[in-house]
This record gives sequence, structure tokens and C-alpha cells, in this order.
Amino acid sequence: MTILTPNSPTAELQALDAAHHMHPFTHGAGLRGKGARVITRAEGCWLTDSDGNRILDGMAGLWCVNIGYGREELAEAAARQMRELPFYNTFFQTTHVPAINLAARLAELAPGDLNHVFFAGSGSEANDTNLRLVRTYWHEKGQPERQVVISRWNAYHGSSVGSGSLGGMKGMHAQGGMPIPGIAHIDQPDWWSAGGDQSPEDFGLAMAKQLEDKILEIGPDKVAAFIAEPVQGAGGVIVPPETYWPEISRIVKEYGILLIADEVICGFGRTGNWFGSQTMGITPDIMTIAKGLSSGYQPIGGSILSGEVARVISDTEFNHGYTYSGHPVACAVALENLRILDEEGIVTRVREDTGPYLKNKFESLADHPLVGEAKIVGMMGSIALTPEKAARAPFAAEAGTVGLITRERCFANNLVMRHVGDRMIISPPLVISKEEIDILIERAWESLDEAHAQLE
Ligand code: PLP
Repeated sequence: MTILTPNSPTAELQALDAAHHMHPFTHGAGLRGKGARVITRAEGCWLTDSDGNRILDGMAGLWCVNIGYGREELAEAAARQMRELPFYNTFFQTTHVPAINLAARLAELAPGDLNHVFFAGSGSEANDTNLRLVRTYWHEKGQPERQVVISRWNAYHGSSVGSGSLGGMKGMHAQGGMPIPGIAHIDQPDWWSAGGDQSPEDFGLAMAKQLEDKILEIGPDKVAAFIAEPVQGAGGVIVPPETYWPEISRIVKEYGILLIADEVICGFGRTGNWFGSQTMGITPDIMTIAKGLSSGYQPIGGSILSGEVARVISDTEFNHGYTYSGHPVACAVALENLRILDEEGIVTRVREDTGPYLKNKFESLADHPLVGEAKIVGMMGSIALTPEKAARAPFAAEAGTVGLITRERCFANNLVMRHVGDRMIISPPLVISKEEIDILIERAWESLDEAHAQLE
């Protein structure tokens, strides 16, 4: 068979792709029609496609390439580790140096007493782990009836059956028998679309109160945990009102339920601190990590547990694990990635320099006639598209239509910006420069103009 290369003609690459490759979250008709965009190389914040276009990656891959593309140090760390020990498992009382070092480094970086790490290959796997962990925790504590995990509608916690059930994406639940039993959902704190006449502060309290109501409805002695992202990412970068997290924190404490902060997107500098929990002032019992942990250079995820959760779990044999839990190459790459984030001051720069610069520019998009609110925390932001700002009105067309048009205009202008319904999202590599931020905003504005003209 012919092996294609990055220099093969685009049409050939697309045809072979459409013939054999099943894509995540992609309608087959698109692949058979226009074909997939073929990305061949990347450097810094820039992608190159098979037609030679240079595209500014406003999404850091899939919210993950925090240190940017093309870092030789990570390639070398992988090659070194592959030569020394390409694989060994961490089951049955065995360990290896990269897993030891990475777990210890994460314990150092994580806030509070989060100091033990259970590794996984992805965020989905880590959240599956969490589901079993919290239930096992309560079983071991002599409260086996505490089984229910509460999550939020529109949350994304992964695509496996467990993590997809924890998530609150109705389109996902409609396929393949999700959610599994023992999971309940409350609303997300999306003031723009659901706040009505309430102030953001009152709305934040009302949304938090839903957690208390749900706990009381289920029975406080049956609830194991609440899981949420500090800032909901794939649901549309929903930045919660300031009153939301303090009230949630009060409620989980009052009812003694565990708090799982899903840091898969928010972690590793995205919000201007190492973890989104620090930015939002949350003290979780468990944090889910993946993506920025290795800047996406290797698939790796995990759960960081508090000392107390780890102590209870390690009083039994937790019959759970993945072949690639603590994969040595992935751990070595992640460790090198954390070194770069730290030594190059990337997290601090997001908090104190490029983050505020981006915020200022990004919020100016709210002046565009098609844009209602523009919200951003660190380097994750979203704009709500609307035909009528003051009323915070949705479009008459099916939800997502205008978002899709705008995303296509961004693509045509060589900017990757994603749409979730009629929200447009950015989450660029954390190393984006001020000049690149200017280009991002210019291209976003131009794409909004074109989408606006298309709607006239
Ligand atoms: N949790 C959050 C918050 C995510 O955004 C994602 C992926 O986007 C996941 C979990 C699942 O991670 P993965 O795709 O690595 O399985």
C-alpha cells in the first residue's frame, strides 16, 4: 500500500482519510464532501495545513498545547525515555522513575493537601477513575449508600461511558445508553442565556442553591460527590458569577460531600494560576488533570487526591487501573513540560502580562454588532453571538447556525476559533505573544464582520 506523507496532495490525503478514518465528533457527510482539513506541521502558535496555509491556533489544539508546538526538549525527553525504559506498568507493587518524579512534582504544585496521584491515559479515564474512587471512598468509610455523583448540564467530563454520563451533554446522552444510573445533574451558571432579569450575583446564588436542593431531594446520605470544572470549558467557557463558587463551597462542606474539580482544561496555567481551583478559590478533594499536563505532546491524565482520600483508598486494594497508568514516556514528557512552564515563567506571564493584555483586547469584541458579552479568564474566553444585545436574545435560526457560520469564516481567515452553539471560544497556547494576540483579535473581528454580512 502507498504510505502518504505530509507533502502528498491534499485530495489524496482527504480521500484516504474519508475511506478509512472514523473521526470523533464529526458528521461523515462533511468528510465525504469537503473533506477534513489536513494539518501537517506546527511551530509555536502556528499550524500549517497540507495546502501550505499558516493558521493561528486560537484553541491550542484541543485546549492542550499550553507551551506551544515544536519544543525540542519534549521530543528529546520522549526519545531518552524510550531508549531507557519505553514501557513498564505500575500495577502490583511496581513503579519506575518517571512516575515517581511526576507524582512528586504534581504533589508539590497542587494546592492544599492534594498530594497523591492516580495516573490515567486521558481525562475521560481519569474521571472514570474518580467515579469509582469516590464510591469506594464512602464504602470504605462505612457509608456505602453514598453513591450518587452530582454534575451539571452541559458539562463535558469525557467520552467514555462513565465520564460521558458524568458530563451533561444531552446530544451525547442520546447515543449509546448514557447516562448510567447514580448520576444527577443541575443547571450551569450561564447568566447570559438563563439569567433573565436577575443580577449575575443573584443568579450565581440561585444556581448554587440548585446543588443544595438536589442534595436534599436525593438525600444527603446518598450523595458521594459534586463534580464541576472551575470554569466550564467545552460547554462554552461559562465564567460563573462571583457568588457561585463560594456558595457551592459552603454547600459541599455543609453536607460533607466530596468536591471533584475537573481541571482538564483549567489546569496548568490556563486561568493564570497553576490550577483553576486557585483562581476560583476552591478547595477540592480530587482534581482531574490531563491536556496541559503534557501540553498534549503525550496522552496522559490523572486524578490528584487529598491526603485524606488517598489514606482511605489505600486502606484497601483499589481494583482499578489502566495499562498506561503512569506510562514512563508520557510521564517523562509531562515532567519536562512542567519544567518549561515553571522555569520560563509561563503561568506568571499569563496572570500578569499577556493574560491581562488579551483580556483587554478580547473584551473589546463586545463592541462588535454581532457580539453580546465577551468573557475571559486567563487564556480561556468566549463571546456570545446575538441579534440583539440588550435583550440577550438568541437567533431565530436553529441554535449553532450563526456560530458555525462564524467558525467557517475564522477558518477561511486562517484562525482556529471554535463554536459551541452560538458562542465562539478561544483558548490559545499560553506562550502566545502580544503581536499574535493582535493578529488573533484582528482576524476574529474580520470573521465576525463577514458572518454579520452573510446574515444581512
Ligand atoms: N474533562 C474536561 C473538562 C475536558 O474538557 C475533557 C476534554 O475535553 C475531558 C475531561 C476528557 O479528556 P480526554 O479527551 O483527554 O479524555
